[in-house]
Amino acid sequence: MNERTVLIVEDEFAIRDMLRMALEIAEYNCLEADNIQDAYRMIVDDRPDLVLLDWMLPGGSGLELLRRLKRNDSTRELPVIMLTAKTAEDNVVQGLDVGADDYITKPFAPRELIARIKSLLRRAGGGEAYERMQVSELVLDAESRRVFLGQSLVDMGPTEFKLLHFFMSHPERAYTRGQLLDQVWGANVYVEERTVDVHIRRLRKALQTEVADYSNLIQTVRGTGYRFSSIGSSAS
Ligand code: CA
Repeated sequence: MNERTVLIVEDEFAIRDMLRMALEIAEYNCLEADNIQDAYRMIVDDRPDLVLLDWMLPGGSGLELLRRLKRNDSTRELPVIMLTAKTAEDNVVQGLDVGADDYITKPFAPRELIARIKSLLRRAGGGEAYERMQVSELVLDAESRRVFLGQSLVDMGPTEFKLLHFFMSHPERAYTRGQLLDQVWGANVYVEERTVDVHIRRLRKALQTEVADYSNLIQTVRGTGYRFSSIGSSAS
């Protein structure tokens, strides 16, 4: 019962149908379009809260629509997740450059997509939901800068807190050590990449308490870096 509306812009019926079912199970309202003209009209008329935007569409690409949305003051803030079958890095970068908030590569698990949507709406919505983040028994209260596992306070350093805060607001996405340094330490700080590993280790240790072990939420992504995920962990 979240009453949020997601616009699906996708020309392949089977994928659109799968998306609509996954969204409806997660209790989102759905709008559907199979071309960018209809999509733009729905965005203006029906004001969806988020757009899932396919890349390759008849009569104009998803990127074209994205550019149009970002040029316009009234639609600039609308969160957009690009759906892409293209795995080439530069295409993904292009989408993010134009202003997509996130992207997901086909084929994808509906559950992962829903997690991304939730995360993005939380970030876009701001306010209370953003300040208090929760995965099962793990609660991060940004305002008081405290972390709880169940009823117990989790002791961690300020860097571990910032790292966890970043992870919990960007779940299910792999980050390189360099990206984590930019996001958590700041782009202008010179720190060696292995520093990230040290703090990841401390964070995992902090999440292992007598109450529960949530350290496996912080996953190592081989060849990339790290990801925060409740999928495939005992905390899901
Ligand atoms: Ca397509």
